[in-house]
Amino acid sequence: MRKITIAIDGFSSCGKSTMAKDLAREIGYIYIDSGAMYRAVTLYCIENGLLCNGQIDVEKLRNEIDNIHISFRPNEKTNRPDTYLNGTNVENKIRTMEVSAHVSPVAALDFVREAMVRQQQEMGRQKGIVMDGRDIGTTVFPDAELKIFVTASPEIRAQRRYDELKAKGQDVDFDDILENVKQRDYIDQNREVSPLRKADDALLLDNSHLTIEQQKEWLAEQFERIAGQ
Ligand code: C5P
Repeated sequence: MRKITIAIDGFSSCGKSTMAKDLAREIGYIYIDSGAMYRAVTLYCIENGLLCNGQIDVEKLRNEIDNIHISFRPNEKTNRPDTYLNGTNVENKIRTMEVSAHVSPVAALDFVREAMVRQQQEMGRQKGIVMDGRDIGTTVFPDAELKIFVTASPEIRAQRRYDELKAKGQDVDFDDILENVKQRDYIDQNREVSPLRKADDALLLDNSHLTIEQQKEWLAEQFERIAGQ
């Protein structure tokens, strides 16, 4: 089988990461969660006083963007990569509602996207990678051999997020999560730089009524079809 690049894009909380991580593990590819990179930049803003009363200090962030280094290292317990911000493991910190509430405006900044896309393209230079996000098939890897665009209704996505955060012991409210999901959809689809949209050559997957197992099978079939050519 030839080594390919796999781009998985779609709306917030539609289960992209789960399917991307599982596929990467099964086929021995690198997995990169590009959303985690934008979340890590947002966490940096929160922890370094660049986000006050919901306002981003854009000029300060522009000056500091080159000092923000994001990497991924395997976690042997979870069998999945953890996100590191300037050498510190921030995997749990980047998944809070506080980060979710601010990440989309941070990710809409052109210089933030340029810096992240550069790092993402570097990570995928040798192919053999599964990357998930919003603009992977359109901007980061427009030549990816396999592109998937995943969607599900906002209510189903909010329920999945709610269950996930509850399971981690976070005290969360379903309506707040639904509101956050809708708000991020809106910002992601309407921003000027690399708005969220399906690449013309991406396969559409609505997983509203699919089990994780059914989704996995479908994805494995697509991989074998393309990589086996
Ligand atoms: O995938 P996740 O929901 O963790 O991503 C967090 C946020 O990062 C998204 O709501 C979106 O605003 C932004 N993002 C992006 N481009 C990507 C991945 C994520 O703008 N490639």
